[in-house]
Amino acid sequence: MPEMTWMEVRDAVNAGCGVILPIGATEQHGPHMPLCTDALLAGRMALDVAKETNMIVAPTVSYGFRSRPCTGGGQTFPGTTSLSGSTLTAIIMDVVKEFIRTGFRKIVLFNWHFENSNFIYDAAYNVFDDRKKDYPDLKLLIIESPFSELKPETMDYVFEGHFPGWGIEHASIFETSVMMYVAPELVDFSKAKDDQAEYYPFYDMLPIPTRISTESGILWKASLATKEKGEMVWKEISQNLIESVNMEFTRWEKEN
Ligand SMILES: [Zn+2]
Repeated sequence: MPEMTWMEVRDAVNAGCGVILPIGATEQHGPHMPLCTDALLAGRMALDVAKETNMIVAPTVSYGFRSRPCTGGGQTFPGTTSLSGSTLTAIIMDVVKEFIRTGFRKIVLFNWHFENSNFIYDAAYNVFDDRKKDYPDLKLLIIESPFSELKPETMDYVFEGHFPGWGIEHASIFETSVMMYVAPELVDFSKAKDDQAEYYPFYDMLPIPTRISTESGILWKASLATKEKGEMVWKEISQNLIESVNMEFTRWEKEN
């Protein structure tokens, strides 16, 4: 969409095209990957899905909700630049309202930053509730956790038998593998090491103690990442998303 002219967008809308809004973060991803990791992956995945689903991809929301110590290292790393929940919700609401004004009726909100979850649903719910009377054909699909549906055999292969949980899997096996496949020029694998917090409590603390995060910003075993793992999960996730987006919008069309 950012590379299209306004007439091209108008024509796409008139032809029944939907829009995907990728939502990422500007957040530390260890010594081996850049701050744009979540934003870049959200945008690239959205492009792959859009090609097979009659969608166009809007500019990525590149800031996300606060990084949390046990899932992203937290607000102790230079460069991590986060929004409050109310700001993130407000940005998404404004953007979605503009999509609706433009004429889009099929809207996909696509997230790649763990901590954004719920704020995206909240924004979508608020806009939908406000606009549903005026636009009865409006449909919103909210995808907050695209990687949680991998097959058990894929999980076993990627995590080599021990999955630490998606929160701790930050800048580690999964994300490093995916970046090695999608944007290898942005990964310095010589700096990808294994790291671990002293412990991962089920609660948070303020001020943030360093013992519940790591010094490197890697929260698990980045050394086990490979490009092959990245390719495998990328293809499986994009295929799942393509099937889900096509299925839901087709079903909605039949229902109305
Ligand atoms: Zn990430």
